[in-house]
Amino acid sequence: MRRRTFVQTSTLAATGAFFAPGLVLGRSRADLVLRGATVFDGTGSPGREMDVAVTGDRITALGAGLPAASEEIDLRGMALSPGFIDIHTHVDMPIFENPNVESRIRQGVTLEVGGNCGGSPGPWSEAEYQQTRSRYRERYGVEIDFRDPAGYLAGIDRLRPTVNAATLVGNGSLRGSAVGDEDRPATAAEVAVMQEELRKAIAGGCVGLSSGLEYTPSGFARPDELIALASVLKGTGYPYASHMRNEDDRVLGAIEELLHVGRMAGVPVQISHLKAQGQRNHWKQKVILDLVAGARASGLDARFDVYPYVAYSTGLTNLFPTEMRAGGTQAFLQRLRDPSTAGFLETYCRGKIALLGDWNSIQITSAGERTPWARGRRLGDLAKERGSEPYALVLMLLEENRGGVGTIGFGMSEENVEELLAHPLAMVCSDGSSYAPYGPSAQSSPHPRSYGTFPRLLGHYVRERKVLPLEEAIRKVTSAPADRMRIEGRGRIAVGAFADLVAFDPDTVIDRAAFESPHQYPAGMPLVIVNGVITIRDGEQTGRRGGRGIRGAGRV
Ligand SMILES: [Zn+2]
Repeated sequence: MRRRTFVQTSTLAATGAFFAPGLVLGRSRADLVLRGATVFDGTGSPGREMDVAVTGDRITALGAGLPAASEEIDLRGMALSPGFIDIHTHVDMPIFENPNVESRIRQGVTLEVGGNCGGSPGPWSEAEYQQTRSRYRERYGVEIDFRDPAGYLAGIDRLRPTVNAATLVGNGSLRGSAVGDEDRPATAAEVAVMQEELRKAIAGGCVGLSSGLEYTPSGFARPDELIALASVLKGTGYPYASHMRNEDDRVLGAIEELLHVGRMAGVPVQISHLKAQGQRNHWKQKVILDLVAGARASGLDARFDVYPYVAYSTGLTNLFPTEMRAGGTQAFLQRLRDPSTAGFLETYCRGKIALLGDWNSIQITSAGERTPWARGRRLGDLAKERGSEPYALVLMLLEENRGGVGTIGFGMSEENVEELLAHPLAMVCSDGSSYAPYGPSAQSSPHPRSYGTFPRLLGHYVRERKVLPLEEAIRKVTSAPADRMRIEGRGRIAVGAFADLVAFDPDTVIDRAAFESPHQYPAGMPLVIVNGVITIRDGEQTGRRGGRGIRGAGRV
């Protein structure tokens, strides 16, 4: 208040005018002016050199030669964009582990859309809630005091992390609390319970429904159940976002299922992290794009997102079919050893490896304290080094870690990734999570996308590979995802919009996180502002955090 009073007084002195005290507060003089950047407004328009004024949490003026402000930052030679909106992330709970959200804010992400792949922060059963609470209390000293996705948004408001967060509602989370881990159709009563939970969450500001049909228990949902849930979204404009039932040999059937659910429910569909894995499936991408075009021609609003890497990341259990993972981890581990199922499981797993190439197509990201030596290593190399048969090593890792082993799979083609990135229907996402090069998360060896997606898009694919123009890349990570999730006042640089902003040097911006050394912040991205709060300055955290829970504009 004192500073503002001073600001006002000095403005009056400078203009020689008289206004009643209080009337011009924050109007005649902005809190902050960003000077001389090439401003990309997020709509896909080319950049234009101008100043941007920020007062409180909003952009309050745009133009050449804006009047002096309390604080000024010279951005000549820099590009200024709306903060990046990552439409597909898994940062949900990791935000509570470290509210600095380092790997995300440092690559210019100001809004995370979580709750993807069928898994959202709740709704939790009482047992799940208590487990989550005690885990976060013991490991991170954090109190978790919400039990469903709408409560999560309020939790984010209270936590005030560096980034904003919105969330989808996962069908797997709904199913886990209403049905459990069983592989069977939900009863009519259970479907009604899930619909009601979903309706509550949407009313509380959640921005759609997700599924992750290669995971359990999400994948135990049949199409009819997915249609029944997605129907709740009708009229809200929110999408049904799906990690499809298959992304390799059966990907065409999987896309048909996804489009069918959207058509029958009458809601938009968002194909999550679109890809066709395995060399023998790479040709299918063209067919998928034709199917999407056909669906759109018949009135379905189908779009997709893609991450700028040729490797995906998932769990080691995903080398096995979902039906063999029914009933939880213990049941799955038993089936791996049970003579009546072991042979089938081994054949299935070896088939997945053959699809990718060889055992070195799989790299371990995270593994527990009993097998720390596996982190960051390729399966083939590890097996050789340990004198083990590779499949036997897989079994051992699963058992020692109770199924909890993360993996990276090298399965996509560069040509396909570039085609998707440039596609007008594509948004660019990370599918990543929050990590830091210090603290507990530094122990794992994650996919580099968690640190590098956006600078890689801008530096590698725009500048070096010239796959798409800069203004179009920016649109795909700002206004396009904001419009898709019906999030208002973000994703554009405009007077009145929230001041979520990122400045980067288009000549030098680049990702530095690599598959071998993922915990690296990018280069060339010195300034990130969230709700008017300067959070990254000169490439470093300022210690100020402005993130909020973000609610969509759709109404049930
Ligand atoms: Zn997924």
